[in-house]
Amino acid sequence: MPLSSVATHADEQEIPYYQSVGNECALFDQAFQQRLPMLLKGPTGCGKTRFVSHMAARLGKPLFTVSCHDDLTAADLTGRYLLQGGETRWVDGPLTRAVREGGICYLDEVVEARKDVTVVLHPLTDDRRLLPLERTGELLEAPDDFMLVVSYNPGYQHILKSLKPSTRQRFVAMSFDFPPPAVERDIVARESGLEPDRCAALVNLAASLRAMKGQDLEEGVSTRLLVYCATLIGAGMPILEAARATLVEPLSDDADVQEGLMEAIQATF
Ligand code: ADP
Repeated sequence: MPLSSVATHADEQEIPYYQSVGNECALFDQAFQQRLPMLLKGPTGCGKTRFVSHMAARLGKPLFTVSCHDDLTAADLTGRYLLQGGETRWVDGPLTRAVREGGICYLDEVVEARKDVTVVLHPLTDDRRLLPLERTGELLEAPDDFMLVVSYNPGYQHILKSLKPSTRQRFVAMSFDFPPPAVERDIVARESGLEPDRCAALVNLAASLRAMKGQDLEEGVSTRLLVYCATLIGAGMPILEAARATLVEPLSDDADVQEGLMEAIQATF
């Protein structure tokens, strides 16, 4: 199993907090019941991963999460023979475990993975729901409680790294974005413990920082970063210092852009 994968079991934990913004929970639930795979699109730090852990816990299913990266191969997902105590033994990867045991396999940032990954995903995402393991000669049929969920960030997309139509058209898809201000305020307050009024000011600030996206910024400030900022402020850090460390430095290395962001922050606080 690659280091990036984590298996969590719903019965070992409480249901992670997730504030819904639309019908996403009902849609996920339906997709799970109907044995359909799901594609989540949206910017980084807007709640996709939290949503999947919340739903897995609500459905009482184990969750196998894999953060995809450009070295991730099909074998990292399916498994490989490993030498253990002088013997060669087959070890299932996270995708194979989810298919054998039932559960939700979540491939975060799936476009980052090597192209051979799509070869294993295709037979799993049509109505056959099969996982062929060439190395062991097995052909696994996914149980009813297996679900494949993948996410990607269309903002990072470039020609070489986008999902091919033949892949994306195998998924029920939904778009995520930063939550509406009142919802984001509640999320930031709940996650950081900072008073809601002070969080509301940060969420207002985020709106003006997000408006700067595109000019020089690749991505707008995420809900995750707002939570970080509120957490540092709650711990007693001066606002401008916390904002620089969480809303400026992570977004850009360019001195001019950083200055522009700091000006917007100083205008608010
Ligand atoms: P993504 O997977 O989209 O990159 P995450 O799910 O990791 O983002 O979200 C980042 C953080 O933002 C979470 O750890 C959580 O604190 C917060 N967050 C964002 N959206 C929500 C939401 N709708 N409900 C609860 N927490 C949220």
